[in-house]
Amino acid sequence: MMHLPEEITICEVGLRDGLQNEKTLLATEDKISLIRDLVDAGVPVIEVGSFMNPKWVPQMADTDALFHALDGQFSNVEFRALIPNLRGVQRAADCRCKKVKLNVSASREHNLRNLNMTPEESMAGFVDCVKAAQDNGIEISGSISMPFGSPWEGRLPQSDVDAIIDAYLDVGIHEISLSDASGMAVPTQVNEMCNHVRTKFPTVSWWLHFHNTRGMAVANIIAAMEAGMTQFDTSFGGYGGCPFVPGAAGNVSTEDVLHMCEESEIHTGIDVVKMMAISRKALALLGHSADSYLLRAGRSQDLIESMKAK
Ligand code: ZN
Repeated sequence: MMHLPEEITICEVGLRDGLQNEKTLLATEDKISLIRDLVDAGVPVIEVGSFMNPKWVPQMADTDALFHALDGQFSNVEFRALIPNLRGVQRAADCRCKKVKLNVSASREHNLRNLNMTPEESMAGFVDCVKAAQDNGIEISGSISMPFGSPWEGRLPQSDVDAIIDAYLDVGIHEISLSDASGMAVPTQVNEMCNHVRTKFPTVSWWLHFHNTRGMAVANIIAAMEAGMTQFDTSFGGYGGCPFVPGAAGNVSTEDVLHMCEESEIHTGIDVVKMMAISRKALALLGHSADSYLLRAGRSQDLIESMKAK
């Protein structure tokens, strides 16, 4: 008998993790339209964009405009953005973004390529970011990339991951995401690490972020659920990737996870049919599909109904 939670929380990251890897730059109005659809489908947490330098990530250049447009709307939904540094907190404050997420990689090489700093240099900057966020009434969380392994170092010692968690806790960050950007995690490892961190750091509110690079993302989510995890990032249509990781595929698709939950009686509060429509809309806007089983095969229930009708 598997022990899975009755309810999980999904954060939709397609607008950030998905779109940041696309050659097509979506119009701000199209992003707002997607956000409206996501809210209507019941998504409780949405990662709207990131406050990176627009020169390096032009796809996210309108993040400030999006937060201005969302200001005062959809009070029951949490909108968050990724920030690279203190400048990111300032931009968040200016456009009334109320939730930001820092990032550091457990992999030294990945951190150097992604952020041009060592993990220690990244962490040294956290204190000022937390202070500035608190001064502006902004909630701040943290993310750890590649805790399950990196293309450059392979599997990392758990003590390296624990040291970053400790560093986050030291500066007062208690909401932490484990992000398998390299898509190297496997269920046994995920289950073990989730059990370990939940026991060792019981005050932390955990998020898990899986890419489906090697087809393991849904299995990893179930393995994390089995260890008591209940908060997961997913991306409509399975868009996403990581420009620094060779062969990186997209995030796990939101509709695939919703379908698995629906068939397993795990409550998400999100309408899977509406989510599939959102992914089709993204497909029309971006001109190519990504990694969504549901868009290819449809829901099991719809197939059963269509067979009855024949
Ligand atoms: Zn990602």
